[in-house]
Amino acid sequence: MKVWEWIDQNCELPSESGAKLKGKFRTGITPYTRGIYEAYGDPAIRFITLVKSAQVGGTTILKNLMMWDIENKPGPGLYVTANEKMAKRFNDRELEPHFQYCAVVEQLAVRKRGLWAKLEKLFKNGATVGLIGSNSPSNLASRPVETLKMDEVDKWPEESNKEAPADQLAEARTKTYEDTRKVFTISTPTVESGAIWQRYLRGSQEKFHVPCPHCDFWQELHFKYAQGEGELWYPEVCRRDDGTWDLDRVQREALYRCAKCDEPIHNDKKRAMTLVGKWVKTNPNAPSDHRSFHVSALYSPFETWGGIAKVYLQSESATGKLHDFWNNYLGLPWQRQATIVKRSVIKEIVEISPTYRRGELPIQPLVISMTVDVQQTNFWWVVRAWDKKGVSYLIDFGSAISYEDLGEISRREYKFEGKKYDVLKVMIDAGYTARRRAGVYEWCLMSGGRCFPSKGSSKKDGILHSIRETRVTHKGSEFLLTQYDDDVYKEELYRRRIKERAGPGWYLPVNITNEYIDQLTAERLVERTSPRGGIEFVWESSRDNHLGDCEKMQLVFWDLVAPHVRLEEPEDEQDERVEPSLKVDIPPSEWS
Ligand SMILES: [Zn+2]
Repeated sequence: MKVWEWIDQNCELPSESGAKLKGKFRTGITPYTRGIYEAYGDPAIRFITLVKSAQVGGTTILKNLMMWDIENKPGPGLYVTANEKMAKRFNDRELEPHFQYCAVVEQLAVRKRGLWAKLEKLFKNGATVGLIGSNSPSNLASRPVETLKMDEVDKWPEESNKEAPADQLAEARTKTYEDTRKVFTISTPTVESGAIWQRYLRGSQEKFHVPCPHCDFWQELHFKYAQGEGELWYPEVCRRDDGTWDLDRVQREALYRCAKCDEPIHNDKKRAMTLVGKWVKTNPNAPSDHRSFHVSALYSPFETWGGIAKVYLQSESATGKLHDFWNNYLGLPWQRQATIVKRSVIKEIVEISPTYRRGELPIQPLVISMTVDVQQTNFWWVVRAWDKKGVSYLIDFGSAISYEDLGEISRREYKFEGKKYDVLKVMIDAGYTARRRAGVYEWCLMSGGRCFPSKGSSKKDGILHSIRETRVTHKGSEFLLTQYDDDVYKEELYRRRIKERAGPGWYLPVNITNEYIDQLTAERLVERTSPRGGIEFVWESSRDNHLGDCEKMQLVFWDLVAPHVRLEEPEDEQDERVEPSLKVDIPPSEWS
C-alpha cells in the first residue's frame, strides 16, 4: 500500500484540532503531498527535504508520517522543533488528538503510567516517539534514532559558533541506522544561508509541474514573470483613477497566465491541474537518496490566486511584510547581498527630495512618528512625516539627555498651510540594558499609551513574522512590546530605501548634517562563512549608528501603522487622521 493510501485509510481530522476540514483525511485535497509521501515510503530514499510556504499543509505531512511510522517503520522516532514549548504545543494540538482518532495507532499505544508521557511515547511493536526542542544539546546527543522529523528548522535558535548546528547534531543520532533511516526536514525558508534552503540545494530540487488547461503545456507555477515562465496576473483596470490598486477587485480578477499560450487560467481550474501534477527533478547532481521539494502557496487549496495577489500588494509598501510574503507565500528565501551605503548616496537622496528644511512639513501628513534610540548616557531621536502611501519625509532629528527633553521634543508642533500637526506616537528602543529598560518601560507607562517600547531581534525562536507584539509586565501594569526582525528592517533601510531607492519615497531635508550622514553610513552588510560552510551576511558597524537605528525603527513604525490607515481610500476621504491601534493581525499559523 502506498503511504498516502495508508494515510487516507487510517487518518482522520478530529474537529478539536481546529482544522477547516473534518472527517476522513484526504491527501487529494493537497495532491502535491502525495509524491512527498511516496518519496518517504521509498526504501532507497534516506533524506527528504521540503521547503514550503505557509498554508500548504506542511505540519500535517509531518504528523501523518509520524503516524505511518508507528505501524510501518516501528523504530525509535524523534521529532525536533525550535524549543520544548513548541514541541509540547505540536503534541497537544496535532499529535495527540490525531492519535486518538487513528485506530491502528491507538491499538498499538502503551498508555500506561511511566511508559506514556507527553513527549515520550511507547508502542507495543517497539516503536517510540520522542519530541524535543532543538535548544537542548544534551537531548540532541543522546540515543540513536531511525526516523527523524525536523520541523521549521529555519526558526531554530541560533547555534553558538563552537557547536555544530542543531540540525546536524540531530542528524548525527541517525548514524546507527545509516541504511534504514529517514531524515525528514521541513521549514518555511528565511534567507539563502538558512538550514532549509541549504538542505534543499543538496537534494533533487523538485518542482511541482501542472498542465495548462488550454494548451496542455506542463509548467511550474510562478509568482512573477521571468523569461519563459507563467505568472500570477491582475489587470491594469483594477487600478483606481489615482493609480492605487482596488484590492478587492484585484482579489476577484487575478488569474494565472500560462507560460506557453499566455491564456488566462482561473483559480477554479487549480484543483484539477494539481490533481494530475507531477514532481520534476531539477538537480542532476543530487545524491540518489535525497529528494528535496519546493511548494508555494500558489498550489494551496487554502489560498486563491486573487488572495495571494492582494496580500502581495498589501505587502509591497511594508518592508517586513514583503520579506514575509516571500518566505510565507512563495516559500522562497530572501536574497541578501552585500550592502555599503556611501555618503554620496545620501546626498543624492537630498537632491531628489522635495525642497524643505528641518522642522518644516512639506506635506499634509497622515501621521507623524517619532522614534528613540536609547544609549548609556543619552538618547537619539528622529521625527518623520508619512503620507497615505508610505512616502516619508525626515522632519527633524537629534540627541537628548533626559526624558524631560524627550517629552518636550515629542510635543513640538509642525505647520503645514497654517494648520498644526504633532507627533502621534513615540516608539522607543527597549533593547539596551536591563537598567535602562526599566526606565523605558516607566516612561511608556507614564505616557498613557502615547509612547510604546520596541525591541529588535533576529528571526528565530519560532517567529514566522517580521513584526509581532508580546505582552510585558512592569510594576504590575501590562502593556505591549513590539518585537521586530532587525536584519529585515536594516536591509530595507540601507539597501532598498537608501541604496536602491525602492519602495515608497524616503526623503530628506536640504540642510541635513554631516553627523546624520556619518551615522547613516556607518553600517554595512558583509559576507562571511556560515557555521554550515556556506556564505551568510552579517551587519557590521564601524562607528555610531544611532540615527540609522532611529530611521530603521521608523520603518517598523510604519509597518505597524499601515494596516490601520486605509491605504486604498481616495484622497478626499482621508481628511480625518486615523488613530491607529497598534495591534498587528497575527494569522492563526503564527507560532510565537
Ligand atoms: Zn497554455
